[in-house]
Amino acid sequence: MIGNGTMNEWKLRELMCEIGRRIYNKGFAAANDGNISYKLAEDRVLCTPTRISKGFMKPDDLCIVDLEGKQISGKRKRSSEILLHLTIMKARADVRSVVHCHPPHATAFAVAKEPIPKCVLPEIEVFLGEVAISPYETPGGQKFADTVLPYVKDTETILLANHGTVTYGTDLEDAYFKTEIIDAYCRILLLAKQLGRVNYYDDAKAAELIKLKPNLGIPDPRLTLGLENCDLCGNSLFRQGYGDPGPEAKVFIHPKLLADGQPSGAGVACQVPSAPAAKSASNPPSNGHAGGPDMEALVKTITDQVMHALNGAAR
Ligand SMILES: [Zn+2]
Repeated sequence: MIGNGTMNEWKLRELMCEIGRRIYNKGFAAANDGNISYKLAEDRVLCTPTRISKGFMKPDDLCIVDLEGKQISGKRKRSSEILLHLTIMKARADVRSVVHCHPPHATAFAVAKEPIPKCVLPEIEVFLGEVAISPYETPGGQKFADTVLPYVKDTETILLANHGTVTYGTDLEDAYFKTEIIDAYCRILLLAKQLGRVNYYDDAKAAELIKLKPNLGIPDPRLTLGLENCDLCGNSLFRQGYGDPGPEAKVFIHPKLLADGQPSGAGVACQVPSAPAAKSASNPPSNGHAGGPDMEALVKTITDQVMHALNGAAR
């Protein structure tokens, strides 16, 4: 048993209503927006119903569905966005709870498709790590749910382009807290930008923070990739998986990228084995280390680009 696993179902229903109230009172979900889920057992997921304000739910308003989204019980109809929650739970056996809503500051970044900058606040590095932005799709169906799949294993905080956020974790509060953290962070970023200056710390300081995570029981895919070889502050872990065009930093750009003459943020990321290969070679991996695997990857990318261009010209 993990997280809320020792709680009985009624207590979990009460806690889900309590999380709903926090979401509504924080302004993270207008009217009937947002949805919450909790995996009670392997094929039983407690979830919020459609067309109800998350601030005013009672325990018996909640529904139970199976892992395919088929309603098992509840007097109200389950949320249509439950497929997003179930897709995450199926991809991540450790995830028991998912929270989806539209917190305004984080959603502003999702609307602008502005990557969440790193190396600004230490708590973000430790408690959220990398945040991904999934591509836009019409909400509700499986196609929408599948947009998070390339990122789901390497983060627990995803911005849904032109829509909102989805955060998840081992229990209800863990999943919800990530929503609170990302929205507070985005709010601070927007306020600092209004002041006119955003200061960043560097890769070495970011590595120090990431090294604290195992002691706190928080995994981070970058630890297994070797922190020394990663551009921790300037680039995204997800760049390889974003394809083209991916989110591009236009507003929050780490000074090291400006110094490299790469204001777009197209620097160098850690390679994530689980992320699919980029559809385009427009962001060749290169971290400036001569020789070694990175250099080999760069040479291969350039060779592929040349071959691609030659094939195109021959047609
Ligand atoms: Zn939504």
